[in-house]
Amino acid sequence: MRIVVLPGDGIGPEIAGATTNVLRAASARFQLDVKIEQHPVGHESLQQFGSTVQSGLLQIVRAADGLILGPTATFDFKDEQSGEINPSKFFRKNLDLFANVRPARTYPGLPNRVGEFDLVVVRENTEGFYADRNMEQGNSELLVTADVVVSLRRITRHCCERIALAACQLAMRRRKRLTVVHKANVLKIGDGMFLEICRQTARAFPGLLVDDILVDAMMAHVVRQPDRFDVIVSTNMFGDILSDLTAELSGSLGLGGSLNVGTDHAMAQAAHGSAPDIAGRDVANPFSLILSMALLLAWHSERSGEARFESAARAIENAVAAAIEGGQSTRDVGGSLGTTATGQAIVEILTSNET
Ligand code: NAD
Repeated sequence: MRIVVLPGDGIGPEIAGATTNVLRAASARFQLDVKIEQHPVGHESLQQFGSTVQSGLLQIVRAADGLILGPTATFDFKDEQSGEINPSKFFRKNLDLFANVRPARTYPGLPNRVGEFDLVVVRENTEGFYADRNMEQGNSELLVTADVVVSLRRITRHCCERIALAACQLAMRRRKRLTVVHKANVLKIGDGMFLEICRQTARAFPGLLVDDILVDAMMAHVVRQPDRFDVIVSTNMFGDILSDLTAELSGSLGLGGSLNVGTDHAMAQAAHGSAPDIAGRDVANPFSLILSMALLLAWHSERSGEARFESAARAIENAVAAAIEGGQSTRDVGGSLGTTATGQAIVEILTSNET
């Protein structure tokens, strides 16, 4: 398995370093023969190559079996013409990674305020209220006058159908419960179509229990009783916001694993951003990117039929749980270790064959 690693900005290099160490340890233990290839992206790439995504990188990633993208300083990248491309958008759009799968679960030994839960947010990834991915050319946010902005949201039948199908299939592999989160009372046409397609798609899955909740009410429901949810499907922006909430409810935003999946490619990416406020201090939690990498291995296992990748993914997830329970983690999840030492703790748990 050839994996491209793009460390990114801010805390990116620190958490990507910990993640590649864990990947190497998993590869050795489960004989995965993973080859890791690293390239700059974001500010480092902008300085070196005049673009946040250097030319030829897409071809390199296309030829690989998977991508691990660290967080990048997307807020800084304003002018595509000057090479300031949002790398996250670039790969999601060019590799057609239409489903963003974001699991969130609680861990023994990590106190949380809402009780135990284990759910997955499945978010549409290629259109919606993301101005940078809706148009063939240009951006779907328009400056009408100096004081008037129009932001357009694109919703298509095709994208609704494929995200609904992905969510139903995932729910059938889990506890067979699907919740559609939408705002069809206000966005009657766009979210109305999304909701209807989700309901229709679900009818083809016997035994799948489906309900739907308005996105504003969902914020209360998921805080009040998160254990009633299994798989949650939503449009792009709502899913993005909701999945940061569910990650934080599970104990920390630094725990939110995230996989962007298309038909032929997948990209592991932490749910959080580049956290410039804590960059370079060896305090960032690497678990989000480590868990995302584990999701990538599980995806590869499903596609290739090679069970050892699934075993490696499970062992990494169990190692993270064991580290949290044993207090071998960063401060945000109750430990006292730095980023590097936390990654090393996972390597040691994996190497000792305890998970
Ligand atoms: P952020 O997610 O980077 O940080 C929010 C808060 O969570 C901060 O207090 C930060 O210190 C903390 N945090 C984040 N990750 C953490 C971790 N692993 N361990 C411990 N604490 C962590 O959000 P932001 O500050 O709004 O954004 C910073 C930059 O990241 C911006 O340029 C933004 O556009 C970008 N961003 C990138 C991505 C991405 O690359 N996928 C996603 C979101 C934001």
